[in-house]
Amino acid sequence: MSTASRLPLRCWAEIDLAVLERNLHLIRASLPPHMRYVAVVKADAYGHGLHQTAARLMHAGADLFAVANLAEAAALREIGPGWPVLLLSPLLPEEDRHVLDYDVAVTVSSADEVARLDAAAGAAGRSLTIHLKIDTGMGRLGVWHEEAPALYEKIRAATHLRLAGVFTHFCSPDDDAAFTAEQRRRFLAALHACKGIDLGALFVHADNSAGLETIEVAGPFNAVRVGLLQFGVLPHAGSLLSQVKAEPVFSFRTRVGLVKSLPAGTGVSYGRTHTLKRATTVAILTAGYGDGLPRAASNRGHVLIRGRRCPILGRVTMDQTIVDVTDVPGVVPGDEAVLVGRQQGAQIDLAEFSRWADTIPWETLCSVTKRVPRLYRTSLGL
Ligand SMILES: *Cc1c(COP(=O)(O)O)cnc(C)c1O
Repeated sequence: MSTASRLPLRCWAEIDLAVLERNLHLIRASLPPHMRYVAVVKADAYGHGLHQTAARLMHAGADLFAVANLAEAAALREIGPGWPVLLLSPLLPEEDRHVLDYDVAVTVSSADEVARLDAAAGAAGRSLTIHLKIDTGMGRLGVWHEEAPALYEKIRAATHLRLAGVFTHFCSPDDDAAFTAEQRRRFLAALHACKGIDLGALFVHADNSAGLETIEVAGPFNAVRVGLLQFGVLPHAGSLLSQVKAEPVFSFRTRVGLVKSLPAGTGVSYGRTHTLKRATTVAILTAGYGDGLPRAASNRGHVLIRGRRCPILGRVTMDQTIVDVTDVPGVVPGDEAVLVGRQQGAQIDLAEFSRWADTIPWETLCSVTKRVPRLYRTSLGL
């Protein structure tokens, strides 16, 4: 351990692994028992830390892990050899020969990929596991649904490929139920047109977190791909998934570095975009956009200090942010300031924090920078 790791923290994220484990159990309990759980842990497990998060999800009983790239798959392999891993992004041609080293299932969308992967596996004298992805209207990955049966024939004929799953992805599960239903219909029609396909032997999956609101428990669907919800964040305001009672795993905290009084009329921070209307006590926080507190939260966001909401004054800077603590008695350097999370009964949730920057919780979680240490806790004493 370097000496720097023993220094007091200025800005950090707390990740509660016991809450994560409980969330997985709650989500599972809300689903029919035959539904398998694909834990989506791409992008360093949405910024929560791949190693710690995936290890806990393995312990909690995830059935399969989904990642975006081979480096993430390799990291998973170090934690849990033998655990099934699905690569959600297309494989680059020069990655073909590496994929066999990590025993990863590859997402296939095209005849070109089928030919390439079959050749690579054949050259290595191995077989390669794949999931066939069907584009039901998102226009991103997957074979267009009307062309899926023809691609399925090619997969059947490829001697070194083993089909383990079929899936699609919803583009607007949170705001267009009719189109989501149409995507399900297209997916099922495409599967029915694949002659001889044995769906019972495959992972058949479509739902991400928001999809769980309209999940079809009848029919061939037998797995869900859960990202955001397992971290205790709802995909949108008013989501029916609040009934699942998943709790936030992540909180984001910083400290007060300096407290001082300024006269009315003072312009605050770069560009003087805020002018103090009254004599003001400000606290200078030891975090800024260099940590993942977005500059777009300038003059919009709040933080919690001593359980009170304190508005951000002027522009968020790289390393410091100025907040108004005039109405909060007793603030001193060293006090904790909560950017996302709870403090003395008050709360700023990830959705609100994200709105200040006109973004979504997924992006906010990916925007907490490397400078911010992740601290792992187990609140439930598990
Ligand atoms: C990221 C991702 C998910 C998880 O989505 P959430 O909304 O975070 O649950 C599921 N499927 C695919 C294909 C993804 O890329």
